[in-house]
Amino acid sequence: MDTQAIKCIRKYIEDKYIGGGVVKVSDVSAYCGCSDGIILKGLVRLEELGEVKIEKRYSCPDFHYIRENEFPFCSECDQKYPEELINVYFYFKPLATVRM
Ligand SMILES: [Zn+2]
Repeated sequence: MDTQAIKCIRKYIEDKYIGGGVVKVSDVSAYCGCSDGIILKGLVRLEELGEVKIEKRYSCPDFHYIRENEFPFCSECDQKYPEELINVYFYFKPLATVRM
């Protein structure tokens, strides 16, 4: 359930987040054992509540990083890819005002 995911995310932020950077969704799921999808749903809710900011990163099928403003073009491959071949990674940033 979403509320469980929200607890897991808040706990992760409390226990593990050192500040500054972004957190990988898979780091949270590995930490608490929920699936990435469940954590992501929780994050969407927490974003609505203003506790986190979700960020997406993209890579081409060869795992080159693709800048958001160049999407879906990989400058290393010098090639544009159909969207379904692009890998999407979810990150989030806890917002500074959050305290449990
Ligand atoms: Zn590439």
